[in-house]
Amino acid sequence: MHRHALSQTTMTDGRRGDEQLAAPEPLETVRSFVNTRDLELGLEALATPADLRRWLGDHRLLDDSPAVDEADLRRAVGLREALRAMLLANATGVPPAPEVLDAVATAGRRGGLVVRPGSEGLTLEPAGGGVDAALARLLAIVVIAQADGTWTRLKACPGRDCQWALYDRTRSRTRTWCASAKCGARTRARAYRARSSTSS
Ligand SMILES: [Zn+2]
Repeated sequence: MHRHALSQTTMTDGRRGDEQLAAPEPLETVRSFVNTRDLELGLEALATPADLRRWLGDHRLLDDSPAVDEADLRRAVGLREALRAMLLANATGVPPAPEVLDAVATAGRRGGLVVRPGSEGLTLEPAGGGVDAALARLLAIVVIAQADGTWTRLKACPGRDCQWALYDRTRSRTRTWCASAKCGARTRARAYRARSSTSS
């Protein structure tokens, strides 16, 4: 398959049962953002600046239609991978590396997140525009999810070639693995091989 020419349908077809892993809105937008890269299937939905512009527009994160360049794409992909690392931390309990938090802090600073009073109280909004503002809107969603307790349910599957973002709806908050049968089977096979090699 051509890596760059992928449609939303391809993504969905590759992940059957994914709707069961969906987060409540607006957190689902963050989950979708992290899942624009599918490690298991080797798919990258944000391969070009045009892909990024379309994705942010489709998710109502861009309020205008600015030119999107390669530097924007690099920053967006950098933030996406930092968010994935935070979701892995939610799954494993191991805190993310300092570089991950630096990347998140930088994105928040570039977007100029400010508190704005509105008809429904205070909101956290980007002061600027363009892609930096769009990325800051994603971070504002994360901040709100941390406050309402939904954030820790958003996890990345720790399968080595997976890292798919999923929302854990279990009462015990113990779901970690994604729904992909392939992911679980591969991980079990690897664990089996590891046990066999240490015992021989
Ligand atoms: Zn998985």
